[in-house]
Amino acid sequence: MFRPQVNRKALSLDLSLSPKVAGWVRGDAGSLRQVLINLVGNAVKFTNQGRIGIAALPGETHTTSKRRPVLFHITDTGIGIKPENRERIFSMFEQEDASMTKCFGGAGLGLAISKKLVEQMGGSICVESVPGVGSRFSFTVEFDEAAPHFPNAAACQALALPTPETRILIVEDDAFNLKFLMQALEGSGYRVECAQDGASALSMLSGMRFDLVLMDIQLPVMSGIEATHLIRSNAVEGCDPNIPIIAVTAYALRGDSERFLEEGLTDYISKPIDATKLLTTIGRVLAQRQTVRGPGLAGSTPP
Ligand code: MN
Repeated sequence: MFRPQVNRKALSLDLSLSPKVAGWVRGDAGSLRQVLINLVGNAVKFTNQGRIGIAALPGETHTTSKRRPVLFHITDTGIGIKPENRERIFSMFEQEDASMTKCFGGAGLGLAISKKLVEQMGGSICVESVPGVGSRFSFTVEFDEAAPHFPNAAACQALALPTPETRILIVEDDAFNLKFLMQALEGSGYRVECAQDGASALSMLSGMRFDLVLMDIQLPVMSGIEATHLIRSNAVEGCDPNIPIIAVTAYALRGDSERFLEEGLTDYISKPIDATKLLTTIGRVLAQRQTVRGPGLAGSTPP
């Protein structure tokens, strides 16, 4: 989101996520996202050279609490904030001074909103800053512990899915989405392989048997649509041209579902991906496939 501006100013952007923070928590993702957008947006806006850092690390735990505090730091090498203004900047509509406003535009409203959102999430926000050197905004948010809400083994068995040999090819170029999809599918007992563009997907499909393809549409080298066309036209040696292909797409617009079906895709799910929706769609598509094939086809004898 901030990449164009960061690149234009030749800033470096460092992301750091402590492994101790990784895992599943439940919280207000929308509010957290808004706070990060406000703070990172300000950091980029008020920094003309140097770096922006975004870090998440475990916060201080109260032994009695089941909540998981996470501490976020947004660091910049920007113009900084004078000591006398450090509390004021979180008040609605206040800005550092007229000259700053002239140069950089206002940041006050975003900070006031961020403070409110952080407090609603059970945390607090503060800033350390040296004028001319940079600033570091820190805030904490308390999350609830959460188990990933993937269907459990019993639920999968009730759906008769997945069988241990059900193998899914994930085609996805975005590392975060890929990790999410792998965790969701492996966590539900599927065998998973991945490809990061359409062309490598095709070579994997010709070299290995798969039961289903999860196909991102926007891919480098060869798009998901092109890859689907080639599979459907039986141009991929060793690959069943009727293999179910589920589009995973950011185009969550009305009418797209029909368009994707016309392009030869079996079904589609939209980003951001909901794990339950993902798994039920896969389950439904695989079940339909079994019905089409008929049960016990391999063991049946010709008349
Ligand atoms: Mn993509």
